[in-house]
Amino acid sequence: MAHPKTERTLVIVKPDGIQRALIGEIFKRYERTGLKLVALKMLIPTEAMVEEHYLLDPNWKKNVGEKAIASYLKKGETPPSTDPIEVADSVVVSLKKYMTSGPVIAMVWEGGHAVELVRKITGGTEPRSAGVGTIRGDFVLDSYQMADTDTRAIRNLIHASGSVPEAEMEIPHWFKPEEIVKYRMPHEATLYDVDMGSRAV
Ligand code: GDP
Ligand code: MG
Repeated sequence: MAHPKTERTLVIVKPDGIQRALIGEIFKRYERTGLKLVALKMLIPTEAMVEEHYLLDPNWKKNVGEKAIASYLKKGETPPSTDPIEVADSVVVSLKKYMTSGPVIAMVWEGGHAVELVRKITGGTEPRSAGVGTIRGDFVLDSYQMADTDTRAIRNLIHASGSVPEAEMEIPHWFKPEEIVKYRMPHEATLYDVDMGSRAV
């Protein structure tokens, strides 16, 4: 097994993150953990890029639909449909509109348990119920109910890979291998080296 410190994850600052002037705040939160930024680009994605991105994982549709329905039921509210695939189909249409509405910043972060750590800092899908202290919980307020009422995607500032296999599919979708930069930072010795080597001699 590869050392966990080599794990990589894909993060996208979505169009609302850019429009809300939260780029610096978002970067700061990932950067200060010790994770390393190894790839970065700004672009306006095409609808095809967005659709392909979300359909890379064949189970994504079922999962996204089930998660949405469960969230409605938990609050005693009525979901727009009880069929997860039907919910997901409408989410895909909304996502294409949302993600192509303006520039996004795609990036790759590398380091110990990068996927899990970035999801923890980012927070749950729905800002309404995302934890306090997470980016989605602290900087925006959208809900399944508001988004579905207006037939649009939930505005939650960020995309972050949901699992290591998802990251492994998503990174090559957005970056060529040569766009991912290999380098070392001094603090990696403190984070990872067996002998930190910081004692005065
Ligand atoms: P994530 O991994 O937390 O981003 O969530 P998912 O992969 O499940 O969904 C992808 C994106 O679709 C989310 O970040 C939201 O922007 C949007 N989304 C997900 N579920 C719903 C939903 O039930 N309704 C609406 N309107 N948007 C949704
Ligand atoms: Mg996801």
